[in-house]
Amino acid sequence: MATLVTFHAHPDDECINCGGVMRKAADEGHRVVLVVATRGELGEVEDGFLAPGEDLTTRRVAETHAAADILGVSRVEFLGYTDSGMMGEPSNDTPGTFWTASVEEAAARLAKILVDESADVLTIYDDNGGYGHPDHIQVYRVGKRAAELAGTARVYQATANRDDVRKHMSEAAAADGDDSFGPPEEWEIGKPLAELTARVDVSAHVAAKRAAMRAHASQISEESFFLAMPDPVFAEAFGVEWFIREGAGPGITETDIMAGL
Ligand SMILES: [Zn+2]
Repeated sequence: MATLVTFHAHPDDECINCGGVMRKAADEGHRVVLVVATRGELGEVEDGFLAPGEDLTTRRVAETHAAADILGVSRVEFLGYTDSGMMGEPSNDTPGTFWTASVEEAAARLAKILVDESADVLTIYDDNGGYGHPDHIQVYRVGKRAAELAGTARVYQATANRDDVRKHMSEAAAADGDDSFGPPEEWEIGKPLAELTARVDVSAHVAAKRAAMRAHASQISEESFFLAMPDPVFAEAFGVEWFIREGAGPGITETDIMAGL
């Protein structure tokens, strides 16, 4: 048995980016630890969703624990920073946000968990945080430094296959005539396939992945992009998880981030 620590910016990022590898590792008998930098304080919620007096942060923490149970997580930790909001928002500079945190100080918090857990594998994000959100970029910087401090050798940057995303977006835009997202060839999502080094087939775990997304009901509604798509489309879009491991490649050289453990 080995230990996977998976590091994320906000509640719900874990199931979107790594839900498959988390459930897969748990099914194989590995220990899975989820660390979330913030409680997603700036998430948007539909009017009337929360009970009178209920605050979003408390709800999102509860949703994270529910999703974690579905994904086979043994331990959930929040690093205690607050959500920075989208890049360029005034909230980026609010004291206490993850974006304003010292990388060294935040990395020390994560490294303590990595050492406590004798982590074998850590997942972070790519250097653009997948899509440029400041808290996601910070997951890359802090995660990379924490692995150095803790001596965690196997670090995988969870990302998306940009070539695939652009292809699917242009097909979807052509099908429904919706070009509000702008030209797909300008989508700065994930990384080009040529830069990816691990492709993990999680098709056996897409049901758990989707159930975990459903547990984040304050953020991912039944009408959302993620849950509205028919099961076969969801399976195609979310049945593979992509990673970059520094020093691996070129090309896809791994199909399992827990291989050999
Ligand atoms: Zn996020």
